Amino acid sequence: MKAFLLAGALTISGQAAASEASPRDLTEHEQRVHDIYRDIIAFRTASGHGQMDEMVTYLTDRLAEAGFPDQDLMVTDYDSDGDATQGLIVRYRGDGSSGEKPIVMLAHMDVVDALPEDWERDPFTLVEEGGYFFGRGTQDNKYGVANLTGTFIRLKKEGWTPRRDLYLVFSGDEETGMVSTRAQAKWVADNVDPAYVLNSDAGGIGLADDYSPLAQQVQLAEKTYVTFDITATNPGGHSSRPRSDNAIYDLAAALTRISQHRFPVRESALTRSYFAAMGESIPGELGAAMRAFAADPSDADAIDTISANPGFVGTLRTTCVATMLKAGHAENALPQSASAAVNCRVFPGEGVESVKETLETIIGNEAIAVSQRSEATESPMSSLPDEVEAALAKSLTARFGKPIPMIPTMSSGGTDGMHYRALGYETVAIGAGASRPQDIYAHGLNERMRVDAFYDGLDHWSIVLKELAGR
Ligand SMILES: [Zn+2]
Repeated sequence: MKAFLLAGALTISGQAAASEASPRDLTEHEQRVHDIYRDIIAFRTASGHGQMDEMVTYLTDRLAEAGFPDQDLMVTDYDSDGDATQGLIVRYRGDGSSGEKPIVMLAHMDVVDALPEDWERDPFTLVEEGGYFFGRGTQDNKYGVANLTGTFIRLKKEGWTPRRDLYLVFSGDEETGMVSTRAQAKWVADNVDPAYVLNSDAGGIGLADDYSPLAQQVQLAEKTYVTFDITATNPGGHSSRPRSDNAIYDLAAALTRISQHRFPVRESALTRSYFAAMGESIPGELGAAMRAFAADPSDADAIDTISANPGFVGTLRTTCVATMLKAGHAENALPQSASAAVNCRVFPGEGVESVKETLETIIGNEAIAVSQRSEATESPMSSLPDEVEAALAKSLTARFGKPIPMIPTMSSGGTDGMHYRALGYETVAIGAGASRPQDIYAHGLNERMRVDAFYDGLDHWSIVLKELAGR
């Protein structure tokens, strides 16, 4: 009840702020999704704050009011490395007339924490100012949660019955342990076995400086995130009597070798079409190199040019880089151990084990241990199902009045989608958000979303779902 009062209080202040600033006449659907967005941003659903259950209750109440029966609103408690969280799964029952497998849609309800004292505005109050909505989760990923929830409510209120089952699967610890994600993915595989999975938490539309649309990004793959500890050990001794071997020198030599190693270039239809499309919009030598690589992925000059750019080298190959260092215990003692963390982003298909073996080979010193710090989730690349591509094209044309190019992308790792790919499901992220690169503040201070882009994306999921599960 306390939680309800808190949400109510924030609701009133948020409404006042919005109505002063917004000149836009909102449709019933726009107002509804705006209110859900405002209300869920008010829950501090970062790890350690214990507000996930309040947000889940809020969402289930809204869905129940719209006519979703209790048995189709599945709430599960999870213990995410000591932090209590919840997951929510919503089933929209179809009539089965299409004979096709269900579709699952993903979003995550948790956020990276935000410290109110560091922000210019309260991160847990939706503030509309200067054409932007500000607040933690405005992009990542409460826009996805609000948009998908609002779409289910809208379609239910319209009396629409899909021709196949649709599911919303909202996780509760995507930003931390992904305990809920793993469990939900397994539950989905065992109980739903969908045709494919659509993720709201990546993709999205890139805008030019003047807010005109450049392309819809379609995330089809994620690199695998894995960290290795590289450790040299030594009997040590007094620093006045140096031995010929030394843990710090051994580690330094190993790191130098790693710094000089380039993992082999990997290419796929996905990355070639990505570079072909990016090459069209990036000027100068870099854009030319991208087009050349797309045409001939063995072009060494093109590879060198792209490799020199930190923003794009990760799309060419596996990367490993030293990120932390720890060595020695006293200034007058020989070091007994020296270790470095080396963080790798592994290209799909290369394999974490093979990267570990490569590091051992490059180091070439059996006295230096290479150990994997924690479990890694490896996931294959997905392909874009034809019917999803067609539905997405319809949504984009409706939104912009003309076709918008789609660019397949691979992320450096970190969304719920990898767990579904790992279980064999094609997983495609087609978020409805639209931003200029300079407006992306996800995980950072003063996270924001353009107000126009917010409202312009609210028909996205209903157009897509009516294409995929309608008529
Ligand atoms: Zn996210």
